[in-house]
Amino acid sequence: MPTLLVRNAQILVTMDADRREIAGGGLFVRDGFIEKVGTAEDLPTEADEVLDASSQLVLPGLVNTHHHLYQTLTRAMPGAQDVGLFDWLRTLYPIWARLTPDDVFLATLIGLLELAHSGCTTAFDHQYVWPNGSSVDDQVAAATDIGLRFHVSRGSMSLGESDGGLPPDSVVEDEDTILEECIRAVDAYHDPSPGSMTQVVFAPCSPFSVTADLMRASAELAREKGVRLHTHLAETADEERFCLEHFGARPAPYAQELGWAGDDVWFAHGVFVGTTEIEAMAAAGTGVAHCPSSNMRLASGIAPVAAYLATGVNVGLGVDGSASNDGGNLLGEARMAMLLARLNAAPNLAGGPQMSARTALELATIGGAKLLGRADIGSLEPGKCADFFTLDLGRIEYAGALRDPVAAALMCAPTPARHVYVHGRPVITDGSFEGEERLIAEHNAAAKRLTQGS
Ligand SMILES: [Zn+2]
Repeated sequence: MPTLLVRNAQILVTMDADRREIAGGGLFVRDGFIEKVGTAEDLPTEADEVLDASSQLVLPGLVNTHHHLYQTLTRAMPGAQDVGLFDWLRTLYPIWARLTPDDVFLATLIGLLELAHSGCTTAFDHQYVWPNGSSVDDQVAAATDIGLRFHVSRGSMSLGESDGGLPPDSVVEDEDTILEECIRAVDAYHDPSPGSMTQVVFAPCSPFSVTADLMRASAELAREKGVRLHTHLAETADEERFCLEHFGARPAPYAQELGWAGDDVWFAHGVFVGTTEIEAMAAAGTGVAHCPSSNMRLASGIAPVAAYLATGVNVGLGVDGSASNDGGNLLGEARMAMLLARLNAAPNLAGGPQMSARTALELATIGGAKLLGRADIGSLEPGKCADFFTLDLGRIEYAGALRDPVAAALMCAPTPARHVYVHGRPVITDGSFEGEERLIAEHNAAAKRLTQGS
């Protein structure tokens, strides 16, 4: 059983129940799990691998709770740059219809690698178009290559234009096929055990692209199979109008009516929600993936994160996109969540609900872990997975901010992780991933072919 010793961190942030931040801290890891956390005197002096974290901040690995990795191939697309969600989707659906299995594999590699550079060690992905034979197998293969913990979804769309939905009929699927693929994905990949590297989530796309029947059937099947449920909900005013028009209900009550409430459910966005809806979510244990950059990029609105937290709703963070962000920097997203929450409290920051740097970090770590149903990640404490990253405090971005390096990680410009470990194994070493340049070149070639249609 291989051992790893991390020592001499300028500060190690545990995110444990006491929120300990340990000066001169470190970890002792055996077989991917943390055995000891503390200063040099609490830790062994030797291990199979030793990482000296001098002048570095050691943080629990960040958890991304909403993303569409395939969209790394269509970032900053002309025609989709300056429009709201529905027009953005209408521009991109026909391009996504050309995705191949190789494209999905490559985009998943690049997207996960970009997340890893920002300190992310566990990622959930929500792919909902599966053209030309692409499947969850392509994504799981890519995640295994990168070494990130991966929650893959069997996303879906079934309500095409001819039935009153938003997506063209060419990108929607038959509902029996969707449910069969969900079952196949769980049987092939879902591992609920502690330290699991792969889990499966059922994720119909949104109220305007799937039927009520599929939402209901997905919820029933998820509970039968013991997996979690995720969808986009209450993201834009357009969506709210669509729900009122087609279902006679606002998005949150509509979802609840279909069985989408409980601590096995989390929604992306949750912007257009009222007080009683937030209370109902808190009572049921339903969570929210907050995606501030995407909400700003598409001018969707501002999610009421302070109200969620005050009411007891679990909140995690998602970079979303990648074509509606258009980045995959989760540390940057935590910073964005902090800043947007402050703007939302304006002009009464001092007396009002403000988000601190440490709260933003909580959302990005233990908040995300809760949404994914993981008790084994999100903090650095004995028994938990050795998922962590380090930031180099000698960088120019932190110059003058070392009175409080933990706050600096969120308040200063985000820097790339120096080291990233998942389950005690290195993913990023000294800022590098072997073969990254070649992958970027291949990804750019794939994006060119996909977006030019040749
Ligand atoms: Zn999304």
